[in-house]
Amino acid sequence: SPVIVWLRRDLRLSDQPAIAEAARKGPVIPVYILDDETPRHRAMGGASRWWLHHSLESLGAALQEKGSRLILRRGRSDEVLAKLAEETGAQEVHALHHYEPWWRNAEKAVGKVLTLCLHHGNYLAPPGSVTTGSGGLYKIYTPFWRALRERMPPHDPQRRPQTIAVPSKWPESDTLPDWKLLPTTPDWAGGMRAMWEPGEKGARKRLHAFVEEASAYEGQRNLPGVEGTSMLSPHLHFGEISPAQVWHAVADAGGSVATFLGEIGWRDYAQNVILQYPDYGGRYARDPFGAFPWRTSTRDLEAWQQGRTGYPIVDAGMRQLWHTGWMHNRVRMIAASFLVKHLLIDWRAGEQWFWDTLVDADYGSNAVNWQWTAGSGVDANMFVRIMAPLTQSEKFDAAGYIREWVPELADLSDADIHDPPSGKRPKGYPDRLIEHRDARERALSAWQQAKGS
Ligand code: FAD
Repeated sequence: SPVIVWLRRDLRLSDQPAIAEAARKGPVIPVYILDDETPRHRAMGGASRWWLHHSLESLGAALQEKGSRLILRRGRSDEVLAKLAEETGAQEVHALHHYEPWWRNAEKAVGKVLTLCLHHGNYLAPPGSVTTGSGGLYKIYTPFWRALRERMPPHDPQRRPQTIAVPSKWPESDTLPDWKLLPTTPDWAGGMRAMWEPGEKGARKRLHAFVEEASAYEGQRNLPGVEGTSMLSPHLHFGEISPAQVWHAVADAGGSVATFLGEIGWRDYAQNVILQYPDYGGRYARDPFGAFPWRTSTRDLEAWQQGRTGYPIVDAGMRQLWHTGWMHNRVRMIAASFLVKHLLIDWRAGEQWFWDTLVDADYGSNAVNWQWTAGSGVDANMFVRIMAPLTQSEKFDAAGYIREWVPELADLSDADIHDPPSGKRPKGYPDRLIEHRDARERALSAWQQAKGS
């Protein structure tokens, strides 16, 4: 009887153990289920849906080249899988483990009604398997990474299966356009189309391009004006490439790549955190954040979302995000810190905006990085360390980056562009929402108030 492969964020054929194992067992029915019910308010955001459409298109084509197909269904995963098994006579479902709390619940539900075989393959080591001396899980990145590194390198990536046997009769499938994952009017995806090639082939191209430059990563990764990072995050998020493939390609290239590999380690760390704190995306992990006097200002929140705060580096980042679905990591840190500390807006509002607009929006990585920035996370309490956007912008040489994303400032000199003096602010570029010094004082006094309550 056929075997179902339940695909989620693992949209690749090579180094995909669920597909490889199913292919060894018999005819394979690969299915992707568009499921907005299981994650509920964590259903995919707009940018992720755009990516998903193209990634599924690419996977469908790759399966077709092998004589197979990708079946598309919509609904609650456990119900859809049960129905598909009944229709096709499939006895087994193969899938990769996922660690978002809603997927763990869904895996339990599926396991109750069908034989579900879960494989490891989307992380360097199975989340939950890297333990402290006393058998617990790590809360802090550095010791986690040290322990994870001891277990590296990860497995040798598996090749894509030579053949994938097909069932005698294919079950029905939706078509991708039925799902309306792409924007219509307005079509906000032009910048994304120009920048990305979703799918396994696009992921490999990115990886190959990066490998050539990997030894420059260390020196360039903090410079937003330089393409110095891998830009693999959406490909990794959707599982179009495995971290083991990335690891081996980069490590084999030689040079000083330890810092880059450590960043891949952050990705594993984030899953390790949400395994311990499933509601990490919605709850402060420490006091006194529950009592923090957050401001609710729709005007300020919207100015931040639209890249109109009057701080060029923040505005450049937020506009890059809107246009391309991605933002440079250094600028993510600056923009996130600005929302939380300069505007005193609850990080969860920023996390939600990122959830909707990032093509790499990832429950674990987004929550871990927002909590880290706010200082409310399990790892460090850094609320009182307040980033100065101007200093950051100068230090990381963001003039070119600002010119690209805030074109109304393009004529300003390198000296002026980070912090345009009032006489030189072009008409139409907003005044600062708040002066840095005032923001700093306001944030520190809010912190004192929270601590005292
Ligand atoms: P590279 O520097 O080339 O790193 C290689 C890979 O390592 C990345 O593709 C990513 O998978 C992983 N990685 C790197 N840095 C981190 C990190 N700090 N945390 C977790 N994984 C990391 N990353 C996401 O993938 N999804 C998110 O939703 C996300 N939200 C973020 C929110 C905030 C507020 C901040 C400050 C950072 C966030 N990041 C998130 C982390 C980081 O900014 C991106 O992973 C990185 O910018 C992606 O670009 P890259 O692929 O060129 O990274």
